[in-house]
Amino acid sequence: MGCLPSVELPLEDAHGRVLTNDLLARADHPTADDSALDGVACRLADTVGATKDQPVRLRWIGEVPAGRPFDGTVGPGEAVSIYTGALMPHGADGVVPVERLHRDGDTLWVQQPASLRDVRPRGQALRAGALALATGTRLDAAHLALAASAGHGRVEVARAPRVVVVATGDELLSAGATEIGPGRSFESNGPGLVALAREAHAAVVRSERVGDDPDALRRCLDRAAGDADLVVTSGGVSMGARDHVRTLLEREGEVAFWRVAMKPGGPTLFGRWRGTPVLGLPGNPVASLLVFWLLGLPALRALEGERAPSPLAATWPAQAGHGLQGATGRVHFARVRLRREGASWIADPVSTQSSGVLRSLTEADALAVLPPNSSPQAGDTIEVLPWRTAPHA
Ligand code: AMP
Ligand code: MG
Repeated sequence: MGCLPSVELPLEDAHGRVLTNDLLARADHPTADDSALDGVACRLADTVGATKDQPVRLRWIGEVPAGRPFDGTVGPGEAVSIYTGALMPHGADGVVPVERLHRDGDTLWVQQPASLRDVRPRGQALRAGALALATGTRLDAAHLALAASAGHGRVEVARAPRVVVVATGDELLSAGATEIGPGRSFESNGPGLVALAREAHAAVVRSERVGDDPDALRRCLDRAAGDADLVVTSGGVSMGARDHVRTLLEREGEVAFWRVAMKPGGPTLFGRWRGTPVLGLPGNPVASLLVFWLLGLPALRALEGERAPSPLAATWPAQAGHGLQGATGRVHFARVRLRREGASWIADPVSTQSSGVLRSLTEADALAVLPPNSSPQAGDTIEVLPWRTAPHA
């Protein structure tokens, strides 16, 4: 179970939310045996051996549209027109598709034996009372359709996790600033982190900038902790004397861990401020985005109680196209491009692996997960984690 309160939402508003209770089907679907296609319903025994050259003659006695049961009974030698989703009439046990029959008034010639295969048995899709969707499911399009099919117009879900993004650094200018001086740079982590949070269906409360000033940062964290379920900061978590996110959390908050054996992302910090979880990301732009993606989004999923595997369980095997360099004592998430060669995916490193150069992410299709101290050679099998849904063309 997650930590966020449940809310009840109409299906239309529940896309991307996580179920907080099991959804059981309210009725059998279909509610009775029905037809899987347009054609005629008749008795299997009447049409044995029917072919195009030797059609079997039946008597047409009416039709059964979707949504309304047929009043009468289909007797021996009789047939009724039936439409997809219409209930099988009493007496009939098979269906002949419309493409395999010819009707002339109430005379019907069927050119193939009726089949039971085209009758969908009651409860084939859902059985009343059976589990349709389990607690912890994040609702995508198919889940929402299934919830509706199970008779639920509203669902109980975890409220969207609220995220406040705080970019720290005296050198940072907002991306729209008209002038830039030496040593300054445009703030880029905020927009990237907001986008990742939204892709993960979180509610971004705000994204703000604060300088390297402990008092300003303290005020900013106070407000953030009051408004967010997860505060995401960037910068200020390294060893430097001006790395105030780390020093403030150490002195006045809680630090659960600082430093992770990963590259990029080594200085990552996780703790609490006034009780609210804080993920302290490194400032370097690639590290910031990748660590949020690898560690922050699973944290949001856990808050919501989503049943989801760790992203590291979702790797694929690929072949190193060139030699790749792992990191000493840390897992290296190397940015690679993927190309297809026959049945294999080949992973080539992008033009730079520098964690300060965002191009390494825009060029990448995937991250090669290189275990500590490994250095796979060209042709070796490696594990890659897809960073985008389809490789660059
Ligand atoms: P820090 O982790 O604060 O030492 O920052 C490491 C590097 O990342 C420095 O070069 C910063 O200028 C840069 N950086 C930090 N925060 C951001 C940001 N929000 N946008 C762009 N670059 C940043
Ligand atoms: Mg900084």
